[in-house]
Amino acid sequence: MTPPFWLPAVLTIFLAVCIGIFLNRLAQIVGLLLAGRAKDARWDHVGARVRSLLVNGILQAKVYRSAAVGLLHSFIFWAFVILGVSIVEITAQGYQPGWQIPLPPWLYGPLYFAEELAALLAIVGVGMALFRRYVLRPKKLMHEGFRDATVVLLFILGIVTSLLLFNASEQALGISHESNWKVLSSLLVNASIVRTDPAFYWWVFWGAHVVLLFSFLAYVLYSKHSHIVFALVNSFFIDLEPKGALKPIDLEHTETFGAHRVEQFSLRSLLDGFACTECGRCTDNCPANATGKPLDPMRIITGVKDTLLAQGPAIVAARTDGLPDMFQTVHTEDGIWACTTCYACVYECPVFNEHVPKIVDMRRHMVLMEGKMPPEAQETMRKIEQNYNPWGIGWDQRGKWADGMDIPTLADDGRDAEYLFWVGCAGSFDERNRKVSQAFARLMQKAGVKFAILGPEEKCTGDPARRIGNEYLFQTLAKENVATLNRHGVKKIVTACPHCFNTLKNEYPQFGGNYEVIHHSQLLDELLTAGRLKPSKPVAAKVTHHDSCYLGRYNDIYDEPRRVLEALPQVQTVEMSRCRDKGFCCGAGGARMWMEETIGEKVNHRRLTHVMETGADIVATACPYCLIMMDDAAKTKDVDAKLSRADIAELLDRSISGR
Ligand code: SF4
Ligand code: SF4
Repeated sequence: MTPPFWLPAVLTIFLAVCIGIFLNRLAQIVGLLLAGRAKDARWDHVGARVRSLLVNGILQAKVYRSAAVGLLHSFIFWAFVILGVSIVEITAQGYQPGWQIPLPPWLYGPLYFAEELAALLAIVGVGMALFRRYVLRPKKLMHEGFRDATVVLLFILGIVTSLLLFNASEQALGISHESNWKVLSSLLVNASIVRTDPAFYWWVFWGAHVVLLFSFLAYVLYSKHSHIVFALVNSFFIDLEPKGALKPIDLEHTETFGAHRVEQFSLRSLLDGFACTECGRCTDNCPANATGKPLDPMRIITGVKDTLLAQGPAIVAARTDGLPDMFQTVHTEDGIWACTTCYACVYECPVFNEHVPKIVDMRRHMVLMEGKMPPEAQETMRKIEQNYNPWGIGWDQRGKWADGMDIPTLADDGRDAEYLFWVGCAGSFDERNRKVSQAFARLMQKAGVKFAILGPEEKCTGDPARRIGNEYLFQTLAKENVATLNRHGVKKIVTACPHCFNTLKNEYPQFGGNYEVIHHSQLLDELLTAGRLKPSKPVAAKVTHHDSCYLGRYNDIYDEPRRVLEALPQVQTVEMSRCRDKGFCCGAGGARMWMEETIGEKVNHRRLTHVMETGADIVATACPYCLIMMDDAAKTKDVDAKLSRADIAELLDRSISGR
């Protein structure tokens, strides 16, 4: 097969143009990413980052959270990895037909076999993907990226089909290397058009393969398939800080807080949009979106990218005056306020995109730069400032729930306590949750745990303030609480509130507060295992456990509360359709507890439907916010008598003390 004299020149020009377009676009994107002003260098723990690159980037571990989608994606991904070798070899045929990559001779056969198998798997993968998009049509894929995805799938189909037909033409011509390893193309020889004129079709399919391949290269960074490159980068630069820790603002040395323009994000944060596969998993799992709020986490990611591309030249030239900000181009204020910070979007994202920090940064801008927040949230912040709790009850009443229970305070005679029981605002001031604090305290007393409380010295941890965007108030509270805890020499803290737990454990180290913090479900589980608590009275009921986002997705505590429930005599436990790391938020996180929910269905009402589907008599919680939300939903939806709501500590206390 001698190429026509003009082919090498034409091929060289074509390759140069396609590679040039790819490199030019890559340089443009890198230039835009470098416009990100916030500092977030992630070069530490290189070993862990390389591991993430291998496990999450190359092996795509997170993609398999949806098994079928993971499978079809892996077919296509591995096909491209294996076909990478063939790209060089087939392209070189335009200069020198018959040329092979120099390899040990024994390797050619297996390589060609793998290449054809990969091509077949890619065809199956593309078929599955097209079936999903055009027949099953899941809502999460029905967005404007649909057309782009179809173009990319057709490119892939064309590339692998032309490869197989090119190989078949070679077989028909008798010039194929290692033809006995090329099982698929040998089957195709007689079943396809190539047998009619093999020499002609050799050139046709060679041309089709090379043109499609390099056109795809030129196109890829203009499409959502830029994730082929940037998802790998994202998986290296993952956030290795605790999941529940928001990044602090250096309030003393920063002039603008939060973000309302894309360039205020960090380079790593801007990378998210280019890594996004537009799979829609984040939006599909968002409780706010599911209940009709104007919040679409995927749009936050793609909106930042689109804005960066649209305003890029002005951003690079520092001429952004008058340009629309992110509240016009990325997401509305209503959407940003609707987030419960449940973390489902980040948790589900296969490419490690970080939605919650962006949302909190946009809230920080509204609160700290523009003084904007819903009026009821403003009132809550005022209550926290005045009485150190969102209920606004006098700060000196914090320890009142413990009256008559003989519980010492650290300032009084509790200095030798093993644990500080951090009660939290809900456990101290909310009437319903005071009963939980009492039940948990009784259990610790029964088990002989030496504990004390802070009483009036305890202040709100600042979780609602931080999540609403009021970093200033959060840091004030955090520093004051850390000073109190360190003054008392506190080492171990137990709390029944996952929000306090998360803040004390994951965020207070940012302010010099380093303690061993455990959740009450962990301590109760430990006391049951050690035989220090012995439930004896039957709890003959069907119980379902509602996972708190701040305990589960943020801190990976799923089993301990369940083990506490399973220890109750005669109890029957049942799981909701959405449980554990797939759990559906109660609607209270992200300071949503302190904001009116006026748009769409209430999130706690939707969660109640999941509870009722199980036929449970009791919904058990391990979070005061969840308990309040479940209580409210049951009363509003008129299932008050049908469904009990109880904290796991109350159920255990009932079985032990019969209360
Ligand atoms: S954190 Fe939860 S509520 Fe907020 S955008 Fe993500 S999924 Fe939606
Ligand atoms: S942000 Fe992540 S989960 Fe959401 S669409 Fe993009 S890749 Fe999918």
